[in-house]
Amino acid sequence: MTDTSLREINRKLRVRQIPVEYIKRPVEERKFDFNEVVLGYTPETAVAEASRCVQCPEPQACLLNCPANNDIPEALWLISQGDFLGAAKVFAQTSTLPEICGRVCPNLCQQGCVLNRYYGPVSIGKLEAFVADIARAEGLFKINVPEQKTGKRVAVVGSGPAGLTVAEDLIKLGHDVTVYEAWPVPGGVLVYGIPNFKLEKQVVLRKVRDLEEAGVKFITNTRVGEDITIDELMEQFDAVFLGTGAGVQARMNIPGEDLKGIYTSTDFLIRANVPAEMRPPHMQEPPEVGRRVAVIGGGDSAVDCARTSIRLGAEEVTIVYRRTEAEMPGNKTERQVCIDEGAKIEYLQAPVEYIGDENGHVKAMKVVKMELGEPDSSGRRRPVPIEGSEFIMEVDTVVLAIGFWPDPLLGEKTPNLATHKWGLIVADEETGRTTREGVFAAGDNVHGPDLVITAIAGAHKAARSIDAYLRGEKVEPIPPPPPRKR
Ligand code: SF4
Repeated sequence: MTDTSLREINRKLRVRQIPVEYIKRPVEERKFDFNEVVLGYTPETAVAEASRCVQCPEPQACLLNCPANNDIPEALWLISQGDFLGAAKVFAQTSTLPEICGRVCPNLCQQGCVLNRYYGPVSIGKLEAFVADIARAEGLFKINVPEQKTGKRVAVVGSGPAGLTVAEDLIKLGHDVTVYEAWPVPGGVLVYGIPNFKLEKQVVLRKVRDLEEAGVKFITNTRVGEDITIDELMEQFDAVFLGTGAGVQARMNIPGEDLKGIYTSTDFLIRANVPAEMRPPHMQEPPEVGRRVAVIGGGDSAVDCARTSIRLGAEEVTIVYRRTEAEMPGNKTERQVCIDEGAKIEYLQAPVEYIGDENGHVKAMKVVKMELGEPDSSGRRRPVPIEGSEFIMEVDTVVLAIGFWPDPLLGEKTPNLATHKWGLIVADEETGRTTREGVFAAGDNVHGPDLVITAIAGAHKAARSIDAYLRGEKVEPIPPPPPRKR
């Protein structure tokens, strides 16, 4: 019997649609440490969960919803047949970081799954992580490089998901790759932005080690634009890729924002989640967390900070968000996990002033209630303050998690590298070409904060263009945008 007819029978016979749970550490255990919360599937439960996939005919909604076009039905079929390594290979065809995406992706694929409406989607992300972990442990993800090198050299700036992807794609094509990272350890946002309880640092560092073994060089503690310029890199390398992400924190610019006890989310998460030996010297002190913590914002970062606060011993943790749940960005499942761990969320509220005590430490914030007005440029309804609704919320610690933008330094220090609003690099989404010859970019520094898998998808395209450029094929830099009207 052919594989196709087996699948056909399988589709017709499928009756058990109750989701098979993966193992998660109980709240009362996990909220006292920073270890990973999700322990995942066993081989038996993975087969059972993957068998729920009804192998939809093309076009499958799960696949269409995945920015990297992972062949999810094929991978799930292989898992249901017990072929875990085969499934891992399928994920690895389109994703350089399947064990990481499986852990942190908000699972757009699952939102598209046809089972979602009545039974709950197939747990694609956790299955992806399960098979990818096995494959890496078995050495299946070893990066093979051609014996014949091209002699071309590429500098990759940033070692987050986009940088690691470009590095892997190009080393596999025979180019020499050197990755520059501003932090002490490679991994970018994967190490410094995502807490350990969602993604253990070792998972990322294993990937870095594989790249090193393939010949990729990592130069850490080096901020391009400050310690070395793009012009200097262009003298040493044949092409430069910018995968610097969006790590600069937005501020609210309201009174009292500089009081002690108020942290940006990046500062807070690094001090709390990253081991001291991996933190820079100025971030050695852990954050001081009082009894009552307010986290301002509504995205994944806000949720991460709330869960971190709980682990640091805070008794009352409140996420304060200026819109309603319907407009909230980020992963809904993670939000529920955060609530399960004891945080609460106050919607339609925003601080307008932070109030300090006699020692200059925050002790309260003045909060205004909001209502939703007309949609703004993001398409979401704009929060409008309700006049006279201000009230005082007592707090001991505040964490600001209200948005991220790219480091403006590269645009400021690099001739002919055009940037636009909030320092985003002007780059063609299909090729990664920037306005500077030989310089390519993809990921959050081009489109703003987005998913790991979106950065990977853009980085694959940029790597293909860099390879074409290095082989002498013409890849035009995109023309600079017309001067902005003031
Ligand atoms: Fe399987 Fe769901 Fe994809 Fe259909 S949409 S192929 S059921 S994972």
